[in-house]
Amino acid sequence: MPSPFVDDAKEIKEENPFESMMSRFDEAAHLLKLDPDLYQVLRVPNREITVYIPVQMDDGRIEIFKGFRVQHNFARGPAKGGVRYSPDVTLDEVRALAAWMTWKCAVVNIPFGGAKGGIICDPSKLSITELERMTRRYTAEILDFIGPERDVPAPDMNTNERVMAWIMDTYSMHARHTVTAVVTGKPIELGGSAGRREATGRGLLFVCDEACKKFGLDRAETRVCIQGAGNVGGTAAKLMHRAGYKIIAMSDIHGGIYNPNGIDIPALFDQVVKTGTVQGFPGASPVSNEELLELECEILLPAATENQITSKNADDIKCKILCEGANGPTTAAADRVLEEKGIFVIPDILANAGGVTVSYFEWVQDRMGYFWREDDVNNRLRDIMVDSFHDVLRYSTSHGVNMRTAAYMLAIDRVAYNTRMRGIYA
Ligand code: NAD
Repeated sequence: MPSPFVDDAKEIKEENPFESMMSRFDEAAHLLKLDPDLYQVLRVPNREITVYIPVQMDDGRIEIFKGFRVQHNFARGPAKGGVRYSPDVTLDEVRALAAWMTWKCAVVNIPFGGAKGGIICDPSKLSITELERMTRRYTAEILDFIGPERDVPAPDMNTNERVMAWIMDTYSMHARHTVTAVVTGKPIELGGSAGRREATGRGLLFVCDEACKKFGLDRAETRVCIQGAGNVGGTAAKLMHRAGYKIIAMSDIHGGIYNPNGIDIPALFDQVVKTGTVQGFPGASPVSNEELLELECEILLPAATENQITSKNADDIKCKILCEGANGPTTAAADRVLEEKGIFVIPDILANAGGVTVSYFEWVQDRMGYFWREDDVNNRLRDIMVDSFHDVLRYSTSHGVNMRTAAYMLAIDRVAYNTRMRGIYA
């Protein structure tokens, strides 16, 4: 069935994130023999909100920004998902990311649905006060649709703990009392969780450990290439290095570095703090982001942005395990090539679910008003990531499908079950 959101299905591009997500959804739904009525319900978002946000700029002018909040599904609980600020945000992208959140929360079996938000803006061109006014007005515009029991925003591209504090404060001013559980990814002092900042990278370490056990790989002999040196890639690099993996290549938006004998990760990040880039690290040779993806290694960990592995370069990928730290780094067309090459993919909706899992812990702690030690957070995260990895692996083996299809099937099955049991309210 053509997407209800694309005027001409022939125009569908390999790199359109919504179509990329939908083609995986359609394949998994077909294999599950999903009831046609449920199929119709699950392939569309529940609600899409577009808001126009007037902001008084520092020079007195009013500028209008366009923002979105897409709430994809509530069958398993309140919607959950980040808010991104970027000049390139589109409704299609936010829609895809909202759906990915639904499937991700279902794969790790936490009681949330999926949502995502965005504002079309260039935050590097806004002052801190303009950013605050824009965030507060956006929050006010979507106020009736968010809340601890409705939809819980979190940080995403170009939003951070500070932005979450503004959203929480704006919501609380209207509620006339402090509502910490309306957002996650807050500063720890304001009701955030220990371990949240490192959670996505830590989750990647846990699933890589399980994949290595499956293939009998020893950490010290396991060469890892990481694209992206930010929150996800940087944390994964530090934790995997500490655990004994051999990180042989790292990159950021400016380019990458390669040392087949292994990179001294703590020294590299000392440099990143000083210079802002991994480039120019002594003893390593330069590689481009494209070359990094094609290096020979056991684990390739894309942790930067979407559409990095496409039909153009999939045949040149040489890793044994592809662990997706970023959302949507591989296109659906590339999936088919990787499968033919026998590459084991730990799909994004499983691999990078550590972040939303600890967001769930933050929401639980806020609602209890009782906060856990970091060790407790990390141990509970490990339990969920390891169990989820094996749930997907078992599903993949028992249904004879690859890990990505298995993750989608498991997730859709769980969301479909709740939808069927709740029934359609008329
Ligand atoms: P970040 O902004 O902290 O870091 C991004 C890194 O990627 C930086 O090193 C940047 O230089 C690099 N980069 C950006 N564009 C690039 C490009 N075109 N080529 C090569 N490198 C590029 O972001 P992050 O929080 O680490 O998120 C990275 C990815 O992980 C995104 O896809 C995000 O949606 C996904 N993700 C993040 C979390 C989280 O908890 N932060 C959770 C799940 C998924």
